Amino acid sequence: MDGSLIDPCAHLPIYGNDTKMSLSKEQIARYSRQLILPEIGVRGQERLLASSVLIIGAGGLGCPAALYLVAAGVGRIGIMDRDAVAQSNLHRQILHGVADVGRPKSESAKARLQLLNPDVTLHAMQASLTPENALETLRDYDLVLDGSDNFPTRYLVNDACVLAGKPLVHGGVIQLRGQVLVVQPRRSACVRCVFPEPPPAGLVPNCQDAGVIGAAAGIIGSLMAQEAIKMLVGIGTPLTNRLLTFDGMAARVREVPVRRAMDCAVCGDSPTIRTLASDGLACDTHNQGASVGRSL
Ligand SMILES: [Zn+2]
Repeated sequence: MDGSLIDPCAHLPIYGNDTKMSLSKEQIARYSRQLILPEIGVRGQERLLASSVLIIGAGGLGCPAALYLVAAGVGRIGIMDRDAVAQSNLHRQILHGVADVGRPKSESAKARLQLLNPDVTLHAMQASLTPENALETLRDYDLVLDGSDNFPTRYLVNDACVLAGKPLVHGGVIQLRGQVLVVQPRRSACVRCVFPEPPPAGLVPNCQDAGVIGAAAGIIGSLMAQEAIKMLVGIGTPLTNRLLTFDGMAARVREVPVRRAMDCAVCGDSPTIRTLASDGLACDTHNQGASVGRSL
């Protein structure tokens, strides 16, 4: 191994007063290119290794996001997906291969990710997020990344994160366009603040009907992973109160200012959603298509 990858620890920026080097030589080599970033340094890497992310959906968004979070050394990652890998998933759900068709996505994802970075503890959950299990599932994680493919699950994830006080990275993709929003519960706009109710079933096309380019899912999933890393390390300006929209056909990124709604049903001043079990929206999570995602 090139010694230059191991030796530069003397030059690594270290935040705060903690000058103790806790990283192994292997970790210093593995993470050297991000360790040398002044914003990360040893302390930032330690934070990543000590942090945890729950990824909802091992599909078009969850796959690229998981790859980058695992590669970056996020210490513990849960991957929740009830579906099995289908042939039509392979053009965008880049954790899965031909041999994985028919295999649970959560297991396929875990196997691929473990090969990438043995530092990371991976939990595969072949299940749907439901009103009954959402809060308990979220409890063990620092941050939630929503790569789900249907509106009921997205609203359930949003509501659960607000009720549990968990930061959320929300994203959606369809065709060549997508969007990302970071939610800091009760401190910034949540999904319901921006879109109070999901659209009626069938009104907005999904990827199964309208199609999606895999690279667009990769762009949005990568943005989501980067926002998660920023939040976990505590650097940069999070994508809060700004809805980032990406129009791949025009190759244009825009930012739509949004703000927390005082009359929001879940994070407003007088919320009507106080428990998940009473939220009828969450009951339909099993009846949606298996596509990668929809724009809100
Ligand atoms: Zn809200």
